[in-house]
Amino acid sequence: METPTKPHFVLVPWIGSISHIVPMTDIGCLLASHGASVAIITTPANASLVQSRVDRVTPRGAVIAVTAIPFPAAGAGLPEGCERLDLTTSPAMVPAFFQANKKFGEAVAHYCLQDAPRRPSCIVAGMCHTWTLPVARDLGVPCYIFHGFGAFALLCIDHLYRQGRHEAIASADEVVDISVLPPFECKILGRQLTPHFLPSMSMGSGLMQEVREFDMAVDGVVLNSFDELEHGSAALLAAAAGKKVLAVGPVSLCCAPSLDPESDDARRCMSWLDGKKAESVVYVSFGSAGCIPPAQLMQLGMALVSCRWPVMWVMRGADSLPDDVKAWLRENTDGDSKCLVVRGWAPQVAILAHPAVGGFMTHCGWGSTLESVAAGVPMVTWPLFAEQFVNEKLIVDVLGVGVSVGVRKPTANVLTAGKPGSGEAKAEVGAEQVKSALEKLMGGGVDGEDMRRKALACKAKANASLKEGGSSYKNLEELIQSCV
Ligand code: UDP
Repeated sequence: METPTKPHFVLVPWIGSISHIVPMTDIGCLLASHGASVAIITTPANASLVQSRVDRVTPRGAVIAVTAIPFPAAGAGLPEGCERLDLTTSPAMVPAFFQANKKFGEAVAHYCLQDAPRRPSCIVAGMCHTWTLPVARDLGVPCYIFHGFGAFALLCIDHLYRQGRHEAIASADEVVDISVLPPFECKILGRQLTPHFLPSMSMGSGLMQEVREFDMAVDGVVLNSFDELEHGSAALLAAAAGKKVLAVGPVSLCCAPSLDPESDDARRCMSWLDGKKAESVVYVSFGSAGCIPPAQLMQLGMALVSCRWPVMWVMRGADSLPDDVKAWLRENTDGDSKCLVVRGWAPQVAILAHPAVGGFMTHCGWGSTLESVAAGVPMVTWPLFAEQFVNEKLIVDVLGVGVSVGVRKPTANVLTAGKPGSGEAKAEVGAEQVKSALEKLMGGGVDGEDMRRKALACKAKANASLKEGGSSYKNLEELIQSCV
């Protein structure tokens, strides 16, 4: 008997930041490990990142094609090679980036409809690639969206849209009730809402509306999460949206953590950790793009160098700091033994899996949140912007795997018409406040140990979800079956 042909998935990761490209590549690898055929389409500057990940992660025998389609950065007035939103350096560049993305979309559409060697059975699109929907409709195949957010955050966003909050924009100090998961209360300030509900967006509200319409029209949602984690948020979202919401992660567990063999930073991080006691290190990172304003960075730095634990601190934007802050950092962090500062790309998944790491101070990006949970590491939460304040609520109030440092104001970023790393002259969070949060998590007290126990329980569930018969395994099969 002839074996039925497995469906062919075309994945087009959103080129917002590496944190969108890597998990979608991993989803491609998971699909391939379940026997599906996979093609990933991206821009030339991002293709080597995708290809190197595919080379390291692809299961034996599976084939994943990586195709680069030109991205007309220069044509839109952007610097050559500006092929990710996180490479834009001012709010003025953002509309140009979206203009170039539209042209990129036209070229990808042409490729999928005319030139691709195989007809897709399904398109999985990153969040702002709204132009994939007409392509899928032309081909008569399903179109799924991958936002890069967790189910809880998406449920909150959906709830606010259904309440019409995008029309009546909250004032910065208004408390917004998004208690979508009773009995847990979830209230945040207007200024902490996701860009969908903020007034000063550098790409204008039209784009967010387009993304919302895309989101409503697609056939389903693919999530990097697992059903046991978010207290039924995926099912509630599926019911509200009337479509499949399939959690197939944590995708960081799709292979053993691997290091970029070329990276000195990676080797330096791992050998530094090897010399530390179990669960003694605080790992500090604010994601792929998060920059903290100088005054705040100083307070954080003072807390990190004077706390009782060794610290690994990943720092972005250090080159553009004022001279006095640079000098302070040189004097206080260059010894390496107490506080290792990493200015390049840290091998985060491998770091979190290292037995020496006892806590993660995180900006609550969804990728970092999930990687921490999957490694069983509790968190100190320091949200910066986007959906990170909502993720903080999940981490602290719903899951009980973290303590909040107490940030209330979002930091500037290009999307909210600010320059990354710029910001208030006065720090919002003082060094003592940071140390007190670290003490709660790392100090051996009852609350900290409870968070550690809960994080380890999440890790066990995360691993089980990807095994045969687990929830993510079954959801991935359901995704494949829905496209046969
Ligand atoms: N990351 C990394 N090394 C770094 C900085 C970030 O590996 O030095 C990875 C991290 O493991 C995560 C992603 O980049 O997968 C960051 O994603 P997240 O959603 O947490 O935040 P974002 O960068 O989107 O703000």
